[in-house]
Amino acid sequence: MTIAQVIVDVPSAGTDKVFDYAIPDKWANIIRPGLRVAVPFGPRAIQGFVVGLKSRTDIKNLKSIRRPLDLTPVLNEELLQLGQWIAEETLSYKISAFHAMLPAAMKAKYDKIIRRTGEAQLLLDELFEGKQEITWKEAEKRNLLPALHKEIENGNAEVIYRVKNRARKKLIRTVQVNAEQEKLEDLLETLPSHAVNQKRLVQYIMQHPFETMDASQLAKSASVPQETIKALIKKGIFKEHMLETYRDPYEHRSFERTAPLPLTADQQTAIEPIMQSISHHRHETFLLHGVTGSGKTEIYLQAIQEVLKKGREAVVLVPEIALTPQMVERFKGRFGSDVAVLHSRLSIGEQYDEWRKIQRKEVKVVVGARSAVFAPFENLGIIIIDEEHETSYKQEEAPRYHARNVAIKRGEYHHCPVILGSATPSLESFARAQKSVYHLLSLPKRMNNRGLPSVSIIDMREEMRNGNRSMFSIELFEKMKDRIEKGEQAVLFLNRRGHSTFIMCRDCGYVMQCPHCDISMTYHRSSNEMKCHYCGFQSGVPAVCPECDSSHIRYFGMGTQKVEEELAKLLPEARVIRMDVDTTTRKGSHERLLDQFQSGKADILLGTQMIAKGLDFPNITLVGVLSADTMLHLPDFRAAEKTFQLLTQVSGRAGRHELSGEVVVQTYTPGHYSIQLAAAQDYGRFYVQEMSMRKVGSYPPFYYLALITVTHEDLMKAVSVTEKISAFLQSNISDQAILLGPVASSIPKINDRYRYQCLIKYKREPNLFPALRKVLEHYNTQSSREGFSVTIDIEPNNMM
Ligand code: ADP
Ligand code: ZN
Ligand code: ZN
Repeated sequence: MTIAQVIVDVPSAGTDKVFDYAIPDKWANIIRPGLRVAVPFGPRAIQGFVVGLKSRTDIKNLKSIRRPLDLTPVLNEELLQLGQWIAEETLSYKISAFHAMLPAAMKAKYDKIIRRTGEAQLLLDELFEGKQEITWKEAEKRNLLPALHKEIENGNAEVIYRVKNRARKKLIRTVQVNAEQEKLEDLLETLPSHAVNQKRLVQYIMQHPFETMDASQLAKSASVPQETIKALIKKGIFKEHMLETYRDPYEHRSFERTAPLPLTADQQTAIEPIMQSISHHRHETFLLHGVTGSGKTEIYLQAIQEVLKKGREAVVLVPEIALTPQMVERFKGRFGSDVAVLHSRLSIGEQYDEWRKIQRKEVKVVVGARSAVFAPFENLGIIIIDEEHETSYKQEEAPRYHARNVAIKRGEYHHCPVILGSATPSLESFARAQKSVYHLLSLPKRMNNRGLPSVSIIDMREEMRNGNRSMFSIELFEKMKDRIEKGEQAVLFLNRRGHSTFIMCRDCGYVMQCPHCDISMTYHRSSNEMKCHYCGFQSGVPAVCPECDSSHIRYFGMGTQKVEEELAKLLPEARVIRMDVDTTTRKGSHERLLDQFQSGKADILLGTQMIAKGLDFPNITLVGVLSADTMLHLPDFRAAEKTFQLLTQVSGRAGRHELSGEVVVQTYTPGHYSIQLAAAQDYGRFYVQEMSMRKVGSYPPFYYLALITVTHEDLMKAVSVTEKISAFLQSNISDQAILLGPVASSIPKINDRYRYQCLIKYKREPNLFPALRKVLEHYNTQSSREGFSVTIDIEPNNMM
């Protein structure tokens, strides 16, 4: 095998294929599939992934690989195949798919270092020249890579990628005492009397002997400043070593170990088929449908335990927003240091460290957001997707993959079960369960038969008619007051952010719009500015209407800040914590606010989406939804489903423990089935009703969707290209499929680019994907020249 097949790091239609490169003799034993390599490409050297080896090629003037970028593959055989499958299914480039599977640190610039891990051996001493580590560059210069490769295979050395500007964080200074007791005594006597700290430190190490110790820890224990340690290093009393360590975002939290609970009869019935699938090593997809608090998580935990017992590994996906310490605690509490956690609030370095723990098989369970589905385990025994209906499981940029599909693909490969859990399964998943494509498991009751919270729906039009102009209905207000008196807690949910969503002139109806995007701008109280949430454009707040000069220009809608102000006026005794995008941008703030609420430092938790999930505090007995219909009017066929899910989700926060809960839902459309049925917590009827709507509209799950969006600075060009594409696609599909458009997108302009789209609804269209690929190849090769951008989203979440 002297030729490597390489996918190069140039995401374009023309380069989305395998290129052949010769393997220089000296790399012959190193170059393997899954390795990253540097290859010449035109005038440059770029990164590529080796996907295969072969011994012959028809290419004349074959170029050679410059050098390997790894010594051990970063993608194994399974993941290499998976990446190519994702590229096919999502119509994206293979290189984008590979990058999506790896932690960001692998894309970033990095320093590469080879570190020795084995015992002192002559050869190693020679290679490392007595040092603990050498840089890759140096090893390359000294032509050591082939020799080092052997040592890595033998477990005596390893390659570390150090993200450049974050490397220091990962090193800790350790010291080792390098002097006999006598020498220490001598030193103690000879030290000048004013060297108080040095004396104290010497005394300390005489009384507390140790092998090696973290220098800052030592300084703390001996109550001396860091400089004192440095002074003793200079005097030769200490030998210092820089030690690489994992950045562990959870190191300061201790997790109490929990034991499996005896399962209830319902749980027993539900877990049985999962256990069967585990023990027979058989792939099956389960849909675990159970209201919040019905004990799904305990089932996950016990299924994972069984998997670990069989020596295999587990992946648990939870929505990004639900990755609260509470959720993590349940897994760390059961499986301790066997658990790695992956989410986007970790620094790039932390993410990379967690990924490395997985690759080195130092952990057996991964709990993480969407991309954790690519955890490089080789012996997967189960994949669990909690809250499977969450839209964040679909990536909104290329590759536009859905974690559910990837999980099932991996489950097939590893012959292991996939569990989709939800109180409100997506219509797609529930329909598949009805057709026995998935195996339906139900937990119909809450734990201990605890009742579901009682829900009242308040018609806000009625309130208005009765003269209540406040944002709180009489009932919600009274109940909040009652809870504060009783020392119980309430959660207020608002599905918006910012102070007011928009400003409007009351005389002429003018609404301030972003000049670059066809969308109204949002007022931000803290900066007293108008902001476009699509392109970031900012401007001041007009004092008079730009259209008619009226001064009756007012803020409309309500945001969390405004609710907070209103609460301060009406319920001054209430202690309020506000949680939204603005108060949780800083790292760790999310956790801190929740901790404060849990420890009783506030009566009311006020927030957006992010408080809807995973909250499980015993003292919450009231949940208020300030306006249930904000989502109902979005131009999206899933609007009702999303409203139903959110309301069910939010209501589930109340009364999960001894105290019973109440929910107050305020709405301007009290009769809508999604609101009525969410209040009744009746998923079954909602499913039936919503399915009939989808059938009439020819929407999923009756049809698949492909959304083609064309953008261009020139409106006419965008229109004409969308027309051309539509005509081409129409000629490639059967009359079973429905093509809608071309039409302007529901946000017709973003960032000064016009947006046109067409939508295809289809069932089985063997010619569709090849045709879509042709469209991409055609326009994305020309696009750079003519300024077009064409994107294709299969199974889009977002129709805008
Ligand atoms: P879900 O994941 O469906 O929301 P959980 O697994 O969080 O439900 O269970 C709700 C509560 O019931 C939790 O506090 C959990 O510890 C408890 N619980 C779950 N299973 C059992 C059981 N078999 N026996 C006793 N308590 C249980
Ligand atoms: Zn006006
Ligand atoms: Zn804008």
